[in-house]
Amino acid sequence: MTDSRLNQIVSKIKKMGYSLTPQRVEIIKIVSESKSHPSAAEVYNKIKESYPMVSLNTVYKNLSMLSSLHEVKEIKTMQNSVHYDGDVSLHGHAICENCGKIIDVQINEPDFKKFFENKIKGRLTENYHINNYGVEFYGLCDYCYTADPAVSET
Ligand SMILES: [Zn+2]
Ligand SMILES: [Zn+2]
Repeated sequence: MTDSRLNQIVSKIKKMGYSLTPQRVEIIKIVSESKSHPSAAEVYNKIKESYPMVSLNTVYKNLSMLSSLHEVKEIKTMQNSVHYDGDVSLHGHAICENCGKIIDVQINEPDFKKFFENKIKGRLTENYHINNYGVEFYGLCDYCYTADPAVSET
């Protein structure tokens, strides 16, 4: 995630008429620079280092605003916790059902479009126009797969 991603989001927010407080810019910075798909609580813990007065509620509000502008993507894990991804380019996620770790999955855009056109579009019972999509895999990360005796016994 480069500095220009931060600038992209900041200029979009300006254009939409939202004010740009230093705290808001810092939240955008944290979520756009992170590669680990943080939860709101994790963003909150990080921003407290530089802005101790910011509340968790403020963090939530900012993240859902960014999500409604499609500038961050919300990812829901099996544990029902919501994580945020500042990388809104085409990619999927492999989610660990045990520890909740989220790993990026590269997706080839032409292949994905071809797959949709060939395999899915013909099966829809009415016309449909995509704005966004999600590709999620659920399973176990390598660490949990080898560490969990219940899993490795089977
Ligand atoms: Zn895991
Ligand atoms: Zn991601």
